[in-house]
Amino acid sequence: MNIKKIQTNNPEETFDFGKKLGESVEKGTVITLIGDLGVGKTVFTQGLAKGLGIEGPINSPTFTIVQIYEEGRIPLYHFDVYRIGDISEMDEIGYEDYFYGEGVCLIEWANLIEEILPEHYTQVVIEKDLSQGLDYRLITVTQI
Ligand code: ADP
Ligand code: MG
Repeated sequence: MNIKKIQTNNPEETFDFGKKLGESVEKGTVITLIGDLGVGKTVFTQGLAKGLGIEGPINSPTFTIVQIYEEGRIPLYHFDVYRIGDISEMDEIGYEDYFYGEGVCLIEWANLIEEILPEHYTQVVIEKDLSQGLDYRLITVTQI
């Protein structure tokens, strides 16, 4: 298991970290994104999208489980499974076509669908540490 830790001190640094990942990520990669509300998941996702060459805003897929962006270097499949009631909802949308497809999957709240995650994925955890200041974030990237 390969673990990398990055510390950021403002939203721009978190955005830039996402952007760098977006510039280098390969198709077929599944990225899980874990962190409390307001920690910076959307900031990171916007950066990732920018790095993939996607212009325009990324909105959280509130009413659909997955939002598809195809204008970048490779497709981005942005999942938010926070409101999922049952794992069968993932079957209904045909998640395997995305997880094992030609794009990058970014899955927010992936801990809720742990049993269907692929064998290998990139886990991104974003955490605050208030003792380091309000805008400090620790980003831990683990290759699983
Ligand atoms: P989430 O999607 O996890 O709920 P958002 O990305 O929407 O969170 O919001 C994160 C908030 O925290 C934004 O208002 C952002 O400006 C702020 N923020 C402060 N410091 C950082 C940092 N180091 N990295 C990311 N966001 C930060
Ligand atoms: Mg968000």
